[in-house]
Amino acid sequence: MSLKLDGKKLSLEIEEKLNNYIAKNKKMAKRAPGLAVIRVGEDPASGVYVKNKEKACSRVGIKSFIFHLKENVDQKEIEQLINELNFNDDIDGMLLQLPIPKKIDEQRLISYINPSKDVDGLNEKNIGKLVKNEPGMRSCTPAGIINLLRSQKITVEGKKIVVIGRSLLVGKPLSLMLLNLNGTVTMTHSKTQYLDKVCKEADILIAAAGKPNLVDSSYVKEGAVVIDVGIHRLKSSDNNKTNLCGDVLLEDVIPKVSAYTPVPGGVGPMTVTMLLVNTIYSWQKNFGLSSTLNDLLP
Ligand code: NAP
Repeated sequence: MSLKLDGKKLSLEIEEKLNNYIAKNKKMAKRAPGLAVIRVGEDPASGVYVKNKEKACSRVGIKSFIFHLKENVDQKEIEQLINELNFNDDIDGMLLQLPIPKKIDEQRLISYINPSKDVDGLNEKNIGKLVKNEPGMRSCTPAGIINLLRSQKITVEGKKIVVIGRSLLVGKPLSLMLLNLNGTVTMTHSKTQYLDKVCKEADILIAAAGKPNLVDSSYVKEGAVVIDVGIHRLKSSDNNKTNLCGDVLLEDVIPKVSAYTPVPGGVGPMTVTMLLVNTIYSWQKNFGLSSTLNDLLP
């Protein structure tokens, strides 16, 4: 029987701890933790993600500040907003909801974010700290995956791990985090040859390619752990229904694996939870509060 790594359940358990932590420390800090979210334009998926973040913040007691800017806003105006938020004492964390319109230089904006408020862990200073294996803000999806593995005592040290994808958002930071935990990591991408054979060597296989059902049982070693980061909305053949799926063809893979993440309810909820953890971590540092949440940081 393979084990389902239930991200939804774990995220609720962590949220409860976060809620208690804020309730216990709010008096000393004299204010709740604050998270600013900057959204640019009308991308509908971004609208849903921002709403979900807002709801998650209110569940645990974080105050969220949403800045929804017009599609035609210019680079300078966003830079100015980021600068103001960098100096705003009510804000512990800040993120730019991606994607943003193509005419705007996303990386330049991210580099403007104060590294100690960079709760997405995408600023080059935090990436540098990750490369050097020093403490710093870690990006949320990879950090969520590490917590999911930890929650079931799935060790990384000494394991052969294959990550499909090398994006700045997921593949690269995740590979580095796993390397820092002493995994033997292979990072693969769209030019990797014989991907199925490379993946079949993995004790832990993590798919973050953004390609629906790319990984079937021919990619998977018997008894491996398979983590599915991908999330896709596919229309049914009669176009009446939308089905969610990941990068892994789960029904084919489950009989072969020791553990797997479902889609939905696996990696996705953990990503939002880690955003809350990072915001509270920054609040904790700003007010010198007790550090009882440190075991959630990879
Ligand atoms: P991305 O920026 O598009 O990067 C995809 C990566 O996969 C690239 O490195 C690409 O290689 C590689 N790739 C694409 N096709 C491949 C193939 N056929 N074989 C091997 N490698 C392939 O995507 P992303 O932002 O990392 O996100 C990946 C997926 O995760 C998406 O489905 C996204 O929606 C999902 N996601 C989910 C969460 C969550 O919370 N659940 C969070 C973030 C992302 P090249 O570098 O060679 O182009």
